Order: sequence, then C-alpha cells, then structure tokens
Amino acid sequence: MSNPAPDQLELVRAFVNTYDHEDGTEQLTDTATLTAWLGDHGLGAPVATARDLERARELREALRAVLQHHGGLELDPAAPRAVDHAAERAKLSVAFDDHGDARIEPKASGVDGALGRLLVVIADAQRDGTWSRLKACAAEDCQYAFYDRSRNRSAVWCDMKVCGNRQKVRSFRSRHTHA
Ligand SMILES: [Zn+2]
Repeated sequence: MSNPAPDQLELVRAFVNTYDHEDGTEQLTDTATLTAWLGDHGLGAPVATARDLERARELREALRAVLQHHGGLELDPAAPRAVDHAAERAKLSVAFDDHGDARIEPKASGVDGALGRLLVVIADAQRDGTWSRLKACAAEDCQYAFYDRSRNRSAVWCDMKVCGNRQKVRSFRSRHTHA
C-alpha cells in the first residue's frame, strides 16, 4: 500500500505517515530522528529540541485529522487550529524573488520554519486542487495517508484490497452476529 501524492505533496503524505497506527511504529522517536527526517526530505535538517518534537507530532496528528476529514469524517475544530498555530510559528509571509514573482515562505528558522515549508506545500496543493485528494484511511486501525486518484474522489480506504476488504468482512460478521 503506497499511493503516492503528486510532487511536493508527497512530503506531507510522508510526514503524516511517520506514525503508523496499524502497528504503532513511531519514526520520529527523538529529536535526532526528527532532525534527520527533515534533512532527508529536503527541509534543512535544523537541530530539533524536545519542544520541537512535541509540536511536530502534534502538527502531524492535526494534519491526519484534516486528511480524515477529506475522506468524509467530521473535523474537530482543534485540528485546523493546531495547523494554524504551526503557520503562525513559522511566520509564513509573502516574499518576492529577483524576477518579481511572489511566493509564500517561512520567515522563522529552525524546526518551526521547516514545518512551515510543509504548510506552504499544502497551500500550493489547495490552489491546484490536489489537497482535498490527500486523505487518511477510514479504517480506524490504519489511518494511513494516501492520495485518492479515483475519478470521482470517492476513495475512503488506503487500499481497497487490504483495508476495504477488512472493513467488508467486519460488517459482514457484525451483521451475522446481530442476526
Ligand atoms: Zn488503510
């Protein structure tokens, strides 16, 4: 099960998938692994503090909630607020390059700035219509971030063969238990 997202949005998908709900595997185990992860993904490898780690994980789970919302779940307003706070900490601003072209960039340095670059990717993806296709699997024991390539944007499971089938078997069983 992979379902990569287009271009830079794949960074956001990879970030959300640093925690695997299915087997409880945490990739961002400590400050050093957070620094390494950011470095491996072209986000500058800033030295992370314990607080950065806490905030990064918080942002990750808030983004997961938004991705679940893209799949049809109701959104706890705390999630977009948490993402908004990350944007504030990153000090996202409009900047102009030598050609006079505008772009959004984080003015903050460190991990706040690096996470801010993920938020810029999201803002761009929203503009080009790909953001709402990035979803988190509706299976509660999975919640894996995947990109919905279906024509009518209707996918709710990261993998129909795995999570979709599992869900079907479950509802079949519960129907028959209740009967
Ligand atoms: Zn799944």
